[in-house]
Amino acid sequence: MMIHDKLINDYKFELVEDHHNPGSGNYSVRVKLSDDISTVFPYLNTLLYDTWYDYKNRILIGSRNKIRHAFRPHEIHVAVLADRSNVADIAGEAVDFVNKAWKEHDHIMPSLIQRKLPAVYEIYKFLPQTNCKKCGYPTCLAFAAALRSGEVKLEQCPLLLEPEYSRNKEHIISLFPVD
Ligand code: SF4
Repeated sequence: MMIHDKLINDYKFELVEDHHNPGSGNYSVRVKLSDDISTVFPYLNTLLYDTWYDYKNRILIGSRNKIRHAFRPHEIHVAVLADRSNVADIAGEAVDFVNKAWKEHDHIMPSLIQRKLPAVYEIYKFLPQTNCKKCGYPTCLAFAAALRSGEVKLEQCPLLLEPEYSRNKEHIISLFPVD
């Protein structure tokens, strides 16, 4: 089988608003790929931080430069943008990262260590459940869903930073590492 240098040869990108919370002003970049990139996931699993890897369903989520990236066979999702002026650069960097990993994969130890994402309800159980909206989401359940998909940081719920919720916060962190 011929091994190509580039895994991603063509892509399109779009700025997308947080679907859990329309109108929030939270945006991310979705990069759509013509090529299936799942063969590189075990190598990205090694290179990224705080990964959740579901081998069977071919989903990998991890941090790169402290930004959450979600990888699916034909998509890269770069979560929560502080600056929306450089969307093309962000998409290009994500693609370059994948292509570089693929090009150098002979020198990277692949990791098949899997960690399944917790269910949204498992996260929700430990949120304050006040639906106070201080996180910018209309409900704690919506925040839990966004947290699960790596689109927000735990600290975005200010109540969790209060002493009375410190055990809840620890529980959520134990479900998965959060930046
Ligand atoms: S700030 Fe926290 S308690 Fe309030 S709605 Fe958001 S997740 Fe729920």
